[in-house]
Amino acid sequence: ATSFAGRQVALFGLGGSGLATAHALVQGGAEVLAWDDNPQSVEKANAEDIDTADLRAADWSRFAAFVLSPGVPLTHPKPHWSVELARAAGVEVIGDVELFVRERNVRAADASFIAITGTNGKSTTTALIAHILQSAGRDTQMGGNIGRAVMTLDPPEPQRHYVVECSSYQIDLAPSINPSAGILLNLTPDHLDRHGTMQHYAEIKERLVAGSETAIIGVDDSFCVQVAERLERAGAKVVRISRRLPLKDGYFAEGSDLIEAVDGRRTRIASLEGIGSLRGQHNAQNALAALAACLSVGLTVREIQAGLASFPGLAHRMEQVGRKGHVLFVNDSKATNADAAAPALSSFERIYWIAGGLPKEGGIEPLRGLFSRIAKAYLIGEAAPAFSVTLGETVPYEISGTLAAAVEHAAAEAAADGVGEAVVLLSPACASFDQFRNFELRGEAFRQAVYAIDGMEPIGG
Ligand code: ADP
Repeated sequence: ATSFAGRQVALFGLGGSGLATAHALVQGGAEVLAWDDNPQSVEKANAEDIDTADLRAADWSRFAAFVLSPGVPLTHPKPHWSVELARAAGVEVIGDVELFVRERNVRAADASFIAITGTNGKSTTTALIAHILQSAGRDTQMGGNIGRAVMTLDPPEPQRHYVVECSSYQIDLAPSINPSAGILLNLTPDHLDRHGTMQHYAEIKERLVAGSETAIIGVDDSFCVQVAERLERAGAKVVRISRRLPLKDGYFAEGSDLIEAVDGRRTRIASLEGIGSLRGQHNAQNALAALAACLSVGLTVREIQAGLASFPGLAHRMEQVGRKGHVLFVNDSKATNADAAAPALSSFERIYWIAGGLPKEGGIEPLRGLFSRIAKAYLIGEAAPAFSVTLGETVPYEISGTLAAAVEHAAAEAAADGVGEAVVLLSPACASFDQFRNFELRGEAFRQAVYAIDGMEPIGG
């Protein structure tokens, strides 16, 4: 039984995680009344024995809480009608992470709860921590904004570890969030469409670490530095990580070495040397966060090093898919805008760059400083003409049109490019919708085209 057992709970949003949350509430003994603006979702819920009713016509005074599913507007551009009705009736609005915190009460059960947020790197860091724990033989449950909805994770048991990725949206609806270790990786302007101002966005993310027993904070941007200072002044336990600056206390990266600093005394405790799935400075930040979190829940340095070394990486995020001779093939299909493509372009040299798709505002202008790393660009989709203008005289390019043609031409020209590593990189800096239904299918198409090349040695997959 849960604290909502025998009570009525309204729920809006019956996509995958909303539906899973409704089931979990029902299993816990709550009476759920659910709705969605999409009739098909309502039908599906009915078929699964979830009670539905148009919440516009409901008697809101009966509800003990209102659960809002990911993606339904809470504030921006204006609250969804269901939120306005809940507020008018004085019914508390919460999300699935809040339910998880209250209903599962992980920390009281002697289990650990590691929560991860930030503008970039959340999924990678979450998957990395879960992988390290698992490979050290720990009982691990991973979910949240990645994989399983939190309410569908197995219930707490002593020594079980929960690793939960939290979007700012989920934190906004989780006022009681209280992780054993909370990670704030970085804060850069993004998603402002949904949260209005940067200040508000930063305040939401700060709440996750403010509620944590140990607050692990990446101090490579000014917003996060302020958060760390504020929490420390309030007496919180803060662990700083930096991917580029030597710290007096905390964990920082120097080349591929991960270094622990205690009052200025430095010890090299792990290394990312030769770990292909964690290449690049941005991944040093993710690895440092994982290191600090795993140490805080009692793993040994040796266990962590072994887990780092065997991390397979996440698909479509700077994923190494194949090698032929001196040419490496990398799938970074997740990079759907220029900022997201920057880490991959910064991580390699002699790049045969496949880019384009449905262009975003600003195009590839923000990547100009990285153009010297590009040997040639292969432009696809609707963005090709605009991108070719930006590349201009600085970078050789061709308009390949399709992804298949781009892979074929890039592979041939990279193979002919002398000695040392060359990289055929799909990091499109664009949405996929003009040619593919989503970035995953675009990445899969790239993988298949790469595998089809004669003499290719596939990596992973
Ligand atoms: P998120 O879950 O926050 O969207 P991901 O782990 O899925 O982040 O990574 C998405 C992309 O963001 C990666 O392909 C990479 O280009 C970039 N990225 C990953 N980690 C970081 C980081 N720590 N800082 C900046 N960019 C990063």
